[in-house]
Amino acid sequence: HSATKMLQPNDPLRLLNDIFGFENFRSGQKEIIDTIISGADVLAIMPTGAGKSLCYQLPALMRSGLTIVVSPLIALMRDQVAQLRNNGIEAGSLNSTNNDEENRRVRDALRDGSLRLLYASPERLASPEATEWLSRFTVNLLAIDEAHCVSQWGHDFRPEYALLGDVRRRLGNVQTVAFTATADEATRADIVNRLFENPPNMFVHGFDRPNIRLAMRAKENVRRQIRDFLESHRGESGIVYCATRDATDRMAANLTDDGFHTLPYHAGMSSEERARNQDIFLKEDGVIIAATVAFGMGIDKPDVRFVAHAAMPKSIEAYYQEIGRAGRDGEPADTLTLYGLDDMRLRRQQIDQSEAPDEQKLVDRQRMNALVALCEAPGCRRQTLLAYFNERIQPCGNCDLCQEGVSLFDGTEDAQKLMSAILRTGERFGTEHIINILIGEETEAVLKYGHQNLKTFGVGSNRSKNDWRSLVRQIYAAGLINLEIADYGRWSVTERGWLVLKGEERINLRVDVLQPKAPRKRQKF
Ligand code: ADP
Ligand code: ZN
Repeated sequence: HSATKMLQPNDPLRLLNDIFGFENFRSGQKEIIDTIISGADVLAIMPTGAGKSLCYQLPALMRSGLTIVVSPLIALMRDQVAQLRNNGIEAGSLNSTNNDEENRRVRDALRDGSLRLLYASPERLASPEATEWLSRFTVNLLAIDEAHCVSQWGHDFRPEYALLGDVRRRLGNVQTVAFTATADEATRADIVNRLFENPPNMFVHGFDRPNIRLAMRAKENVRRQIRDFLESHRGESGIVYCATRDATDRMAANLTDDGFHTLPYHAGMSSEERARNQDIFLKEDGVIIAATVAFGMGIDKPDVRFVAHAAMPKSIEAYYQEIGRAGRDGEPADTLTLYGLDDMRLRRQQIDQSEAPDEQKLVDRQRMNALVALCEAPGCRRQTLLAYFNERIQPCGNCDLCQEGVSLFDGTEDAQKLMSAILRTGERFGTEHIINILIGEETEAVLKYGHQNLKTFGVGSNRSKNDWRSLVRQIYAAGLINLEIADYGRWSVTERGWLVLKGEERINLRVDVLQPKAPRKRQKF
């Protein structure tokens, strides 16, 4: 067959060079590919653009039989099939927009065994006829793209995806590898539950974007803080995210007054206006877009030099996505995120008042708390951010905390007080209850459990409630205490926490975030 230019060579690197035309594997690819080749199930979490497709395409070529690739978007499917065929690999798709000729080609290639990769939408694949028909061929690998779509907790739940676990079984428990860019633990656990028989090998890779500088500050005077930040980026393209449509319009007007070429973008504008502003941003140099979160999806402008947040984003994932729009070209890019108690209150309210089921609210709260912890992190921001995605790195040298340092105090004693309150109540209570015990407040719940008789009752009365809330977030950010995902509100003490509790390790905490109203000494951008 003309489209098949190789038969199962056994060296992944040679395949990479010869078939795909790439010189080297990217960070993480080789490990994932080796694991797939060894026959194990895999769940890999890599951000968009990291090169997920290659991780299942290459192993598909190293074995006989068919690889089925599940993808939710027909356009994406067609793209990939065209690319593979271009590289001389026999691939096809099953979807509703195929013409007869294409369908015939796929069927023939299936029958004579030359088809290596078959792309299918989940609803197509899940139909009993399709599964029955496919099980007549040797299906050796099931690859699932955008696997977060199986999770009701994710942002893009698709009911058809829920059927894929069943498809896997009906294909004879075929080896299954799943990929997604959505990394958080709740979604991951849900994917594992719904797709796999046994826990797969898990990989998390490529979340680091070292060229993006990270900085976060408590709000003082938002207009001035944003202006100072933009002043150091005159003539560059960038985005300023605002919390509401009103705030976006005001920001655009203010910045225009301050002499910056700024255009607004939010869902309250007509689609023509939005398209026009987006177009100017993409085509001209040095344009600033003031926008709500409505802006950015699918916008691929490589030379966005900065992203600012005039208010705290909605979650740590939203933060990562939004700052990730800067510096796609790999050149240095700058970010500044402002946060305030008002944002935290607003976000909390939005979650509490949403129509979402309780389970979802728990997860949303968790994601928001993780961002708050990042705002108040005592050490390298990138380390804290990537730790959320389970990626470990050294202090980065390219964030405000690495570069400017922070005023720290020895918080060992506070941490010990907090952790003993958590332990003495059986690791079954949430932030507010624990704080009430620490400052010695006889609330109804405290009295009900008899917690006023604990040794730790009132040992933290030298601090305010608000200070304790910040300490809890910092101590959480430092990894001393943990929240069970499925059980929001129940703090427990980690291994590292025990070390501090026993006095074998000490912990430094930030002074500045304890008094958010105090005047700031250093103001450097
Ligand atoms: P994802 O699915 O993770 O968003 P893709 O699989 O579409 O990303 O890959 C993104 C781009 O990177 C594609 O253009 C792909 O050809 C390219 N790519 C993948 N792996 C490599 C590699 N090892 N070397 C160079 N380019 C690569
Ligand atoms: Zn850092």
